Amino acid sequence: MLALSLVLVALQQPVNPQGLPAQVADTSPFRRLNLPTPTMIREGSGRPGPRYWQQRADYTIRASLDTATHTIAGVETIRYANNSPDTLGYLWLQLDQNIYKANSRGALLNPTDARFAGRGFEGGYTIEYVRVVRRIEKAAGRTPLATATNGTVMRVELDRPLPPGGRAELELAYRFEVPEHGSDRMGREQFPGGWLYEIAEWYPRMAVYDDVRGWNTEQYLGQGEFYLEYGDFDVSITVPRSFIVAATGTLANPAVVLTASQRARLARAVRSDTTVAIIAKTEVGQPSSRPAGSGTTLTWHFTARNVRDVAWAASATFVWNASGYDGVLIQSFYPPEANPDWARSTEYARHTIKHYSEKWYRYPYPTAINVAGPVGGMEYPMIVFCGDRAGDRGLFGVTTHELGHEWFPMIVGSNERLYAWMDEGFNTFINIYSTLAFYHDSAPRDRGNAIQWARFAATGQDEPPMLAADRITPRLLGQVAYNKPATGLYLLREHIVVDTTRFDTAFRAYIQRWAYKHPTPADFFRSMEDGLGEDLSWFWRGWFYRSDVVDLAVDSVATRTDSSGIMALVLLSSPGELPMPVDLRLTYANGATEDVRLPVEIWFQGNHYVYVRKVPAAVVKAEIDPAQNFPDVRRGNNVWTKP
Ligand SMILES: [Zn+2]
Repeated sequence: MLALSLVLVALQQPVNPQGLPAQVADTSPFRRLNLPTPTMIREGSGRPGPRYWQQRADYTIRASLDTATHTIAGVETIRYANNSPDTLGYLWLQLDQNIYKANSRGALLNPTDARFAGRGFEGGYTIEYVRVVRRIEKAAGRTPLATATNGTVMRVELDRPLPPGGRAELELAYRFEVPEHGSDRMGREQFPGGWLYEIAEWYPRMAVYDDVRGWNTEQYLGQGEFYLEYGDFDVSITVPRSFIVAATGTLANPAVVLTASQRARLARAVRSDTTVAIIAKTEVGQPSSRPAGSGTTLTWHFTARNVRDVAWAASATFVWNASGYDGVLIQSFYPPEANPDWARSTEYARHTIKHYSEKWYRYPYPTAINVAGPVGGMEYPMIVFCGDRAGDRGLFGVTTHELGHEWFPMIVGSNERLYAWMDEGFNTFINIYSTLAFYHDSAPRDRGNAIQWARFAATGQDEPPMLAADRITPRLLGQVAYNKPATGLYLLREHIVVDTTRFDTAFRAYIQRWAYKHPTPADFFRSMEDGLGEDLSWFWRGWFYRSDVVDLAVDSVATRTDSSGIMALVLLSSPGELPMPVDLRLTYANGATEDVRLPVEIWFQGNHYVYVRKVPAAVVKAEIDPAQNFPDVRRGNNVWTKP
């Protein structure tokens, strides 16, 4: 920080009629954050404005899983509503499976064994056709549309422009082979009882067209996640008769795919606080666990409302148990060979859904599902995949994390590919409190812990969370996209704002305002400032846009005695670029101590400040942040003791 923070650049600048410089070069960390000009779409208060619009995509998907070839073949209908003020001549779709095409950008970027790679698997989508469907006109029918594929995105040329308020109905037929390791987001694994499939990124999905960037066509490279439109889904999945399917949504045909006793157990489970077996371990793979019938396949039918995606899992080797929270069916599916702690998965999931519902925003969906399998941890609406080897605190941690994603980004639909911190970071932040509540701990052990963060920041490896997800150094992803924003919000709530009620009210308002919408970082910053009643430009900039460090110091203490008593002059400095409020503890010659909170505004004029205070006796020790609440990278300069 510069000592003289406001530099007037008068001579070189044009001068306005009042004789004042037209511009000042303000380099202070307190200069206002430059956010996009507010509009009627996105307001200065951080709310969606009266002209806010968002596209909508409703899907009907009929797909089948061929377990001999590990192939999924489907036909989908997308009903796309153009709520934008623009006429669209073409649509962009996401073909995420194309990351597994030979020489895809993702394949070339990622080492073969990298977490977000495909371990050498070559596959990708085969698109059989794309047609536009017209139902009510004289020319009713299906017209083939021209397409152009660019890696993991596909441009579809509409046969006629789609005006504002218009709707287009597309029909696509497609197939792909399911990779074993699908970038740790989907895949399959063989167990003694057969294959277990975790299926996601499994149908061509609409890219988001928004007011900020138009079409969002960032490639799927592996590390960056997804940005999707909301809509309703009607999904039919045909699998071998021996299989059980868990999916986003409500099972629409339980009488067809479940036995009478399974249906009765589910009805009991949704009213139960404790875990009920739907398919007990001893029943896995037994013919009696499947409804009577002769066909080799069964079609499972699911419906889901107001979701941004659908995922599912299928296997003949699932233990299945469930419970209920306030009408929400909490479910777990895991192979008998999973870590035995998976027997507690439903308890972990129920705590999670209840905790976040009561603290932040009521869970809006009819079910929440945890599936054990090859994917280490990945989230989709109403369903998450967690590693089958996870156990104990590790299984609780991944469960409460992946299900926390139901709030970010499933309810609050931010752009994950650009801003990983807006889902991973916010989610990791709420995970801190879910974990503290479950284990009755008082302070975070890892994520959120200021001392741990400071230790990492002191290495100089920190990167700004605002970097697009794919630009973050892969080995630092956990620190930059998860830990840093979570630790920052924990710091903001507990030790900068301190009034946790005020913080929670503002954070809940952000969720409420942007539920089922597409907030940007500016919308979040503005909404929080609006709710908190604080200009936090300095904090957002230093923590999210930059990798500034906190380093507060007591340089010296002088004492002045006159007729009015003893005055202490405490010379403070902030050699780090990121200012912070100061928690100061003064120890006096008479043994007494006093704690003082100095506001962040003490650094308005520069990075040195003299705090003057009337004291009862000479100061023998002055210490900044004795509780170690702030991520100070150099603690050696935090204490002054009388020589
Ligand atoms: Zn996550």
